[in-house]
Amino acid sequence: IIEFKNVQKRFGDTTIFDDFSFKVEENEIVSIIGPSGSGKSTLLRILMTLEGIDGGYINVAGESLWHMLWNDRYVPASNKHLHKMREQLGMVFQHFNLFPHMTVKRNITEAPMRVKGLSRQDAEESAEALLELVGLADKAESYPNDLSGGQKQRVGIARALAMRPAILLLDEITSALDPELVDEVLDVIRNLAKEQSFTMLLVTHEMYFAREISDRVCFFDKGKIVEEGVPEDIFSAPREERTQAFLNAYL
Ligand code: ATP
Ligand code: MG
Repeated sequence: IIEFKNVQKRFGDTTIFDDFSFKVEENEIVSIIGPSGSGKSTLLRILMTLEGIDGGYINVAGESLWHMLWNDRYVPASNKHLHKMREQLGMVFQHFNLFPHMTVKRNITEAPMRVKGLSRQDAEESAEALLELVGLADKAESYPNDLSGGQKQRVGIARALAMRPAILLLDEITSALDPELVDEVLDVIRNLAKEQSFTMLLVTHEMYFAREISDRVCFFDKGKIVEEGVPEDIFSAPREERTQAFLNAYL
């Protein structure tokens, strides 16, 4: 459902991806682990078209995300097309990115109303169901600043789900949280993975979580997948020295 093929990405003189290829199958849960600065967030941001690329191509759900112009410049696919693509993808960010001046409910209904053209009533019904799902039914009228970090992040998940995406992208969604709040957020993801079929691509530093939830774990370093496999193999018997060193520092 996601395919990167020979993708190149540079920031000025710094090459992040040089000929990067990668696939995620439908309903697969893939975790990306790896050191800081290795390009994990950039990968997700490219998928959300928050970042451009300098070469190669990317397909999401059978559609190309970027079009190359005659002069070798890459542009996103047409606006209409792009909207369609973005509807496939929901992203949850490390730092929540909620709108502070909107209530929790408005944070969740905004995109479905604006982008999908849902009526206020439909959007609100859906928001209420999602708040129930993440255990925050009583916080609909609160403002983000009155919530704990764990609660904010659960709103972030509800907001991403409100667009009914086929694919969920999670970028270190617990790393800004106090340790005692981590599990309430991960539990929401655990339940989603259990109860619905979802394609998930997650970047995480929670190794036990990656191990329990993933179909496949990719160890990423300097813009390359150094090693990938089922969680048991990666965590119990990593073959590459760099993977071993990374995991030793974590476990
Ligand atoms: P972390 O684990 O710390 O979140 P990461 O693997 O997510 O790291 P990225 O955020 O993808 O790493 O960054 C990869 C590299 O690209 C880093 O060296 C970073 O400094 C650089 N980079 C990221 N975004 C930009 C940008 N907008 N402009 C210039 N350089 C950038
Ligand atoms: Mg990152």
